[in-house]
Amino acid sequence: MYFNEQTIILLNGNFVKAEESKTDLYSQTLHYGYGVFEGIRAYNTPNGVRLFKAKEHYERLKKSCELINIPFDYSVDDLIKQTYKLLEINNFEDAYIRPIIFCSPNMSLTMPVGVSLMICAWQWGAYLGDNLLNLCISSYCRPHPRSTKIEAKVCGHYVNSILATSEAKFKGFDEALLLDSDGFLAEGPGSNLFFEKNEKLHTPKKGNILPGITRATVFELCQKLEIPIEEGDYLTEDLLKADSAFLCGTAAEIVGINSVAYKTFPLNWEKSLGKKLQTVYKNLVVERETSISWN
Ligand code: PMP
Repeated sequence: MYFNEQTIILLNGNFVKAEESKTDLYSQTLHYGYGVFEGIRAYNTPNGVRLFKAKEHYERLKKSCELINIPFDYSVDDLIKQTYKLLEINNFEDAYIRPIIFCSPNMSLTMPVGVSLMICAWQWGAYLGDNLLNLCISSYCRPHPRSTKIEAKVCGHYVNSILATSEAKFKGFDEALLLDSDGFLAEGPGSNLFFEKNEKLHTPKKGNILPGITRATVFELCQKLEIPIEEGDYLTEDLLKADSAFLCGTAAEIVGINSVAYKTFPLNWEKSLGKKLQTVYKNLVVERETSISWN
């Protein structure tokens, strides 16, 4: 479970017991999905407990609010400090942190009259497991960028993600892969997609996806490791002809894909660029030196 009788959360600046905390049932967020959230990981490193890319996550929380007109009256630095305190109070080392900004009671479809910020945390393993995944192409497409602010992490967007994930699991797959409304590859319900072809990586360009912080980290790692990488509009056929592929996200980290729509990738995962990046990413988040051969 996500909390027990001891768990402490941060609610509107106060550290309080999760069990004793209340919210109202007239919130715009509950009724309309009009709220924003983040997902951050903390790792137990040789240098102590460390939030990975905390600044980037809280900056995105701020940007998500701005994009959908939710007031954001917090300091990113303060939120980071408060999050470390929350982990300390709960005695968490490896944890997943969920900040959410939700709106006060307002049944009309207008801008919020007030907001609350809640930050909670729990201990969580690899979101999609450690095994290679079998994906289906979802019958759902990602929301059209002219119907919402697709680069914001908005609560209501996750109805689309839940529908796609449920459909995939119902059909016996591990995870879904969603196309955009023009039929180009987009992303997973909670992760971004990369595929390898002829020792080069490809990933769907921004515009129809949530541009992940892990995705940005993969770009940084590729630059350091001199792995060629390209963003573009790709079709399902491009992916099915790829050598290898992976999903990435804060919760999932980097996870290899075995097959898409029953088509298995030919390259052994252990020999793929994805596997190399997975190893380097794992070392990076726990602040361990990487000694990997790139030949
Ligand atoms: N796409 C979607 C739809 C997501 O929900 C997530 C998870 N936040 C991602 C991509 C990956 O983003 P990040 O790497 O910032 O966690």
